Amino acid sequence: MLHPRIADLSATRHILKTFNLRAAKKLGQNFLVDAGTVQAIVDAAEISEGEEVLEIGPGIGTLTQGLLEAGAKVTAVELDKKLPAVLAETLASYENFKLVQGDILKVDVAKLMPPNFKVVANLPYYITTQILLTLLEKKLPIKKIVTMVQKEVAERMTAAPNSKIYGAMSVAVQFRANVQVAFDVSPEKFLPRPEVTSSVVICDVRESPLKVTDEEFFIRVVRASFGQRRKTLLNSLIGAGFNRERVSKALDAAKILPSRRAENLSLEEFAALSEELLIEGAQSR
Ligand code: SAM
Repeated sequence: MLHPRIADLSATRHILKTFNLRAAKKLGQNFLVDAGTVQAIVDAAEISEGEEVLEIGPGIGTLTQGLLEAGAKVTAVELDKKLPAVLAETLASYENFKLVQGDILKVDVAKLMPPNFKVVANLPYYITTQILLTLLEKKLPIKKIVTMVQKEVAERMTAAPNSKIYGAMSVAVQFRANVQVAFDVSPEKFLPRPEVTSSVVICDVRESPLKVTDEEFFIRVVRASFGQRRKTLLNSLIGAGFNRERVSKALDAAKILPSRRAENLSLEEFAALSEELLIEGAQSR
């Protein structure tokens, strides 16, 4: 059966008109209108027949169609209450599609998906970081995340120490995944056009090779360290409420000079610092 292609400017305009819809800016709705980009995302996700995919924000079904054509079983979570009626029509001829209407930040993904699933999405830009960190920090059994984000977010996700854009987000993402930028996507590939260039990022999720006893605490330490970027580590951590003596001892034990700044610390050094802070915390109790 031949399916009309959604990833096309006039098809998208026609669908929106038929359902009397406008792209909702506050929901981050920028629909892909370029078939080549959809195919490139699907290729980057390396979909095999019958593979379970979670899509966040299917919109009118543009990327979903590409995933279904590649043989994926797609479960999609969409917040916009107006879109289920649209998807029921645009994806009517596909069997392996399940829609959950709701907020991805509230849905229980662990219950929704079987182990070893992939996440493929053109994320709404107003909550990109929140979505990615939630998925990674919940330690869900995700194999791979392939997602469109703002280019600037992609740069932060992949940033290395000693650069201005290396921050808590870089450490939190790289702690759980090998991250790489696959390709950039220019604004004219969307309707409406976003104001910024986008990038597709591939996160190969893995168990962290670093030894961290308490991951939540590790993330807290990372956030606290970057809290005031221009301050020294010692002052940032004290500023975030850690006891001066505890921080001094932990930095010393982790062999990190207190005058260093968070942006100069490697993932390994953050892990060592977090472990030593835990030990010092336990001893001072
Ligand atoms: N996948 C479509 C495409 O590529 O053309 C649409 C992508 S659009 C950038 C982002 C989609 O995420 C929109 O459909 C929007 O309604 C949806 N969305 C926004 N916030 C959401 C949330 N919290 N949970 C689930 N979906 C959300």
